[in-house]
Amino acid sequence: MGKVLIIGAGGVGGVVTHKCASHPEVFTDICLASRRVEKCDKIAKEIKYPIKTARVDADNTKELVELINKFKPELVINVALPYQDLTIMDACLETGVNYLDTANYEPRNEAKFCYKWQWDYKERFEKRGIMALLGCGFDPGVTNIFCAYALKHYFDKIHFIDIMDCNGGSHGHPFATNFNPEINIREITQRGKYWEKGVWKETEPLSLYKNFDFPKIGKRKMYLLYHEELESLVQNIHGLKRIRFWMTFGEAYLTHLRVLQNVGMTRIDEVDYNGQKIVPLNFLKAVLPDPSSLGATYSGKTNIGCMINGVKKGKNKKIYIYNVCDHAECFKEVNAQAVSYTTGVPAMIGAMLMMKGDWKGAGVFNVEELNPDPFMERLKVDGLPWVIKNVK
Ligand code: NDP
Repeated sequence: MGKVLIIGAGGVGGVVTHKCASHPEVFTDICLASRRVEKCDKIAKEIKYPIKTARVDADNTKELVELINKFKPELVINVALPYQDLTIMDACLETGVNYLDTANYEPRNEAKFCYKWQWDYKERFEKRGIMALLGCGFDPGVTNIFCAYALKHYFDKIHFIDIMDCNGGSHGHPFATNFNPEINIREITQRGKYWEKGVWKETEPLSLYKNFDFPKIGKRKMYLLYHEELESLVQNIHGLKRIRFWMTFGEAYLTHLRVLQNVGMTRIDEVDYNGQKIVPLNFLKAVLPDPSSLGATYSGKTNIGCMINGVKKGKNKKIYIYNVCDHAECFKEVNAQAVSYTTGVPAMIGAMLMMKGDWKGAGVFNVEELNPDPFMERLKVDGLPWVIKNVK
């Protein structure tokens, strides 16, 4: 039904390209563009359906506008880095093209994890008559849609949400991050934060934890983190009393992280090195394994879901909605590990719903503002089936 431009040829970009190519009835023409065209060409070679490739610096709006005007897509899927969200949104505004991403905008020199900058584009997107869909990966993304689906079909009011993200897999490297190391390490080393009774409460990084028995994985220790979907869910799920986000980490991972922090390698400010300015975390990224290379040796599963508590017809009710995804199966299907897969598949589904007009509107939207039903249906057929359990 139309042309799509995918920006970013990393772990997630590879999955989005594979999955879009498996739906030629919707994505008739696909272009994958990134900072290094050879990374796009490598992904294109893995796929039978013809994929166009291009080089673009997504920090540069003028270059983006030129590429968009040349390829003329209906939609741009941004799976580059959060630093590029605003330049890509600017290019979409200038060319009148719809936009989708999986992570909130981040300034380079400060970890913020907030939607403010992108929500500020609402009026401009409305006036231009185009749509921006924010955070359409798994978390944010599917987790928000699980909440919207639960509210629509299972509750009159939702009071408590715990989002729980477990990677029970093993890639065989002493230390690696499952998605872009700069963003991943920023996220984990920031102060913890959750929302309760109308106020945000802060905690020391990784200081709050509890055990949970994850279906198909087993008992794991999960730590409270701040995650960007909390910000939009607090606004969009009315009547909430508390929302928190939890992620599991193994002891070896935490020990490596602690050492890297202690020696200053996770800093995001510039330091002088032999008369040259470098950001230690950028340098660390350059020497860590590329997330898109982890799939070949990955075994085990991920389990990401939401424990939701609320009221239906005057009675208290609790449900658990989750997806389990197997690293090795993802690799067989699209040459990627499950963290890239669970992000790339929802991005493709969001794009498909926008292309088909099932999700439409002018302005800037978080995914829970749209009808969750067609998205939940597509998850089942496109590789991320989910389970809903009543919990006593
Ligand atoms: P990668 O680092 O593997 O890939 C990012 C890609 O973007 C790379 O190919 C990189 O190029 C390219 N890129 C970076 N800067 C530019 C630029 N200026 N112009 C053009 N291309 C550029 O990251 P991932 O694939 O792991 O993650 C992609 C996105 O997905 C991130 O924003 C991440 O935060 C988000 N994410 C969201 C999740 C969710 O559930 N919502 C979960 C996981 C990730 P090069 O190869 O040359 O470095």
